[in-house]
Amino acid sequence: MGSAVEIGYKLLNSDYFCPLSMDQLAELKALLKSPQKIAIVTHFKPDADALGSSLGLAGFLKKNGHEVNVITPSDFPDFLLWMPGSHEVVAHTKKSTQPLAKATRLFQTADLIFCLDFSSLSRINDLSEIVRQAPAKKIMVDHHLQPESFADFQKWNVSAASTAQLIFELIEELDGKSSMDAGIASCLYAGLMTDTGSFRHNNTTARELAIAAELVLMGANPSEIARLIYDVNSLSKLRLVGYALSQKLVVIPEYNTAYITLSQDELKKLDAQTGDTEGLVNYGLSIKGIQLAVLMYDRGEEIKISFRSLGDFSVNELARKHFEGGGHKNASGGSSKLSLEETLKKFLDLLPEYKKKLLNHS
Ligand code: 5GP
Ligand code: MN
Repeated sequence: MGSAVEIGYKLLNSDYFCPLSMDQLAELKALLKSPQKIAIVTHFKPDADALGSSLGLAGFLKKNGHEVNVITPSDFPDFLLWMPGSHEVVAHTKKSTQPLAKATRLFQTADLIFCLDFSSLSRINDLSEIVRQAPAKKIMVDHHLQPESFADFQKWNVSAASTAQLIFELIEELDGKSSMDAGIASCLYAGLMTDTGSFRHNNTTARELAIAAELVLMGANPSEIARLIYDVNSLSKLRLVGYALSQKLVVIPEYNTAYITLSQDELKKLDAQTGDTEGLVNYGLSIKGIQLAVLMYDRGEEIKISFRSLGDFSVNELARKHFEGGGHKNASGGSSKLSLEETLKKFLDLLPEYKKKLLNHS
């Protein structure tokens, strides 16, 4: 078996793949030879890949003498607080204006801005115009479909299961592997583990496993990281899952579809916290024969929607076309400004249009 870099990606098509050019890499290497002010930003409600990539890259850059700040456009779940550097994240939440002022200053004074795990500026909500207008060189590293071209440099690959592995590659391209430590490796491993659904989704290839193996050799502990992320449920989260599965999961056999809706009232009653709904959508998809699973819940300011599918059915297309969203072919998200009931009706009214595709794979 070759090293992780020698095991190539299956897709090397420019619709799916845009590496850093040799010139860009040389420019980046030259820049990073002297201490730089660096801001790293990731998407709204960051998951383990978003935050793990950001903190892994931040750890690496800090070790190499740079001044680095990780900025998020929202809070993030408590189960990511074990990641080294998570307590220093500048999180812009609606509750306080101070982080926004700080984030604005950090973006405006940065030499370099890394944009990780998103490729459309709308994904960083209130921060999008600040980042767009910042004078710094911007480097986007991502694996979502249909990127916007807002960055100076792009390292973008749809066939990569996670942004974390693209950061691993970037560090390798910068000849920096020797300065990786167990903390950096653990952050990246967490992103790789969660974005492959613990190495179960169809984005898991030899390459993901090879990079995971390298991260483990660098000190990432698979069972410990799995426990820190998956086995730290609060009782209220489990009650939320129990309630959703027993009372709210609806199966529509004629469309091979399952969905769950949760109102603000229900979330409040169940004391749901940020991150508690993560993974809930996958239960629908675990039902035999189901091709499309949906979770819709009321965040107050909007309805957040998660889509998951099997095989050729593209939830990216569905989310992009009808719910102001996007993501990957089999895992996408979106939102709606309609009420929860109206959003559900809109979704149900769309199903006949997709019937043929939904029944194709049963
Ligand atoms: P989730 O359903 O877990 O929130 O997200 C599934 C995938 O879709 C993730 O890769 C996420 O980054 C992407 N995604 C989630 N919400 C949105 C959205 O509103 N817009 C876009 N473009 N992508 C989203
Ligand atoms: Mn990701």
